[in-house]
Formats: sequence, structure tokens, C-alpha cells
Amino acid sequence: MTGFPYDPQQPPEQPPAGADFMTWMLAYRIHAEHQPGPEGLCLANTCRAASNPWPCEPWKLARSGLRDACQPITERRQVTDADIWFRRAVNQR
Ligand SMILES: [Zn+2]
Repeated sequence: MTGFPYDPQQPPEQPPAGADFMTWMLAYRIHAEHQPGPEGLCLANTCRAASNPWPCEPWKLARSGLRDACQPITERRQVTDADIWFRRAVNQR
């Protein structure tokens, strides 16, 4: 058991059940493009042009994105007028 709902070495193109679709697809595209080449360099054009070794930063970012796409969405609290008022009130004390 890896703790991932997918094989981290070979993530599937289609997102696992419950994953955030857009995040997965974007991360997957980057992951698929940034693969190791024969001389330890990344195969992606942008990385080859810069002679970036693999694993490159885009690949690491993609790996995080795939993982984050499978995390439950946390409720983002909205800042209300009451919150703003409260902060002003506290700052004026
Ligand atoms: Zn790369």
C-alpha cells in the first residue's frame, strides 16, 4: 500500500475517482512531458534547452500536483464584512 490512489511511478492519464479533474489533467500533462532521458537529463524541450537534470523542478511540481489533486477539498472560509469590522475594531483598541 503506497497511500496513493494510483501508482506514483506510472500515474494513469485519467484521474482516479474523486480527484480534482483539472488539477490532475494539468499535472499529468507536465508529468508525462518531463521524463528522464538517456544522459540523466529531462526529455522536455524546455529542460533540454537548459540542460536540466532529471528529476527537474517541473516534474517535482507535477508529482505534487497529482498528489494534491487527490486530496479532499478543504472548505475555504470566506472573509466577511463582519471579519473586517472585527479586525478594525481590535486594531483600534
Ligand atoms: Zn523537465
